[in-house]
Amino acid sequence: MEICNLCEDQAAKSKSGKPHETLMAIEQKRVFKGSNARRFEEQDYQCQVCQAKFTWSNNTNDLAWTLWQG
Ligand SMILES: [Zn+2]
Repeated sequence: MEICNLCEDQAAKSKSGKPHETLMAIEQKRVFKGSNARRFEEQDYQCQVCQAKFTWSNNTNDLAWTLWQG
């Protein structure tokens, strides 16, 4: 799958960082109750240029930005 330069940079952001300018939320934010009653959130994003999809998460056990392998 070809992805644009902005998405390549996004995929390299393992910890945090805001979505790049053409990366738009495509779903409602999902709220989970993790271990120790710690809540975390996930949200799906899609790039408007190359159509790559990412899931953003603030679960400290996950990458902040996970590129969907399609
Ligand atoms: Zn892209």
